[in-house]
Amino acid sequence: MDGSTVRPFAVPAVADTLGRPLHDLRISVTDRCNFRCTYCMPKEIFGPDFAFLPRSEVLTFEEIERVARVFVGLGVEKLRLTGGEPLVRRDLPVLVEMLAAIRRPDGAALDLTLTTNGSALRRLAAPLAAAGLQRVTVSLDSLDDAVFSAMNGVDYPVAKVVDGIAAAAEAGLGPIKINMVVRRGINETSVLPMSRWARDEGLILRFIEYMDVGHTNGWRMDDVVPADELVALVDAAMPLEAEPPRYRGEVATRYRYRDGGGEIGLIASVTQPFCGDCTRARISADGHFYTCLFTAEGHDLRAILRDPSHVDEAAADATVHDAVAAIWRVRDDRYSDIRTEATSASLPRIEMFAMGG
Ligand code: SAM
Repeated sequence: MDGSTVRPFAVPAVADTLGRPLHDLRISVTDRCNFRCTYCMPKEIFGPDFAFLPRSEVLTFEEIERVARVFVGLGVEKLRLTGGEPLVRRDLPVLVEMLAAIRRPDGAALDLTLTTNGSALRRLAAPLAAAGLQRVTVSLDSLDDAVFSAMNGVDYPVAKVVDGIAAAAEAGLGPIKINMVVRRGINETSVLPMSRWARDEGLILRFIEYMDVGHTNGWRMDDVVPADELVALVDAAMPLEAEPPRYRGEVATRYRYRDGGGEIGLIASVTQPFCGDCTRARISADGHFYTCLFTAEGHDLRAILRDPSHVDEAAADATVHDAVAAIWRVRDDRYSDIRTEATSASLPRIEMFAMGG
């Protein structure tokens, strides 16, 4: 299959001003995290006194399920749970079971997955799989404890994440993807060891260009290791060839090892933005709907869900449906297409942990 035969968008239930359908929904189940990654929730800012959302402001499981159903009615086929760290939300398998029961209008099941730092997978992988979770993506930035500790901000050991990944594999939560954020001068030396390890373990490694989400990480273009450079680095050691996209809107650009030893992915949202195909919506833990990762303005769906003037839940859900459809139809976000270092410094944006990465 070459680029010209990529499956086109089906006639969507709702499309935005650039013709992009609503296909994926990322749901943040909490704004809290047990890591303090320097590029996401630096501990100098997110210390013991930081005011995270009070429980009353976080969507309940029932509210999340109602919102998810509405989005599925508007064309969403893929749900990803995230955060914060989704596994710190108590009883998460209960929510997974509720979401796994949702069917698309054509009766098909959803693609249901989760992004995690892996620290609680040894305990939760089996219950999550039993509840209906299909796959996991685990974030891991290095196999070197000194590098990883410095990046995760809490001295978390590599071995525990690796054990969590093993637990996910044992529970059948594959194919497992590994997200590695690469920062210039910080973990570039981890790129090849991570590539070899992922290959040997049958994991799909995805390099993520360090992004200017939020304002607390002090992002500079100089800190970004461009995807092309990463591909060249891996290719020199283990030859690669480009893989065509499987579907329009696929986030990662994929390469496979020429010897058949698996694949890697590149999420190059800085140097090769993919806004033109972005079909993702996000719901923050407090029920705000975001049409772009790089935006400051969310739409408060929780207020609709909890508005007592609705006669019943079905009426509230219908209002959510109409609001989401109306917002999506006027969506014109293409932040990464137009990003420069200057716009990055000046534009207001919400932090990734708050919106859901
Ligand atoms: N706690 C979970 C985890 O660690 O995967 C889920 C939330 S986390 C915000 C989701 C993903 O975003 C992780 O893979 C993380 O490394 C990535 N991420 C966070 N901040 C980033 C940034 N500034 N640039 C690129 N990726 C980032």
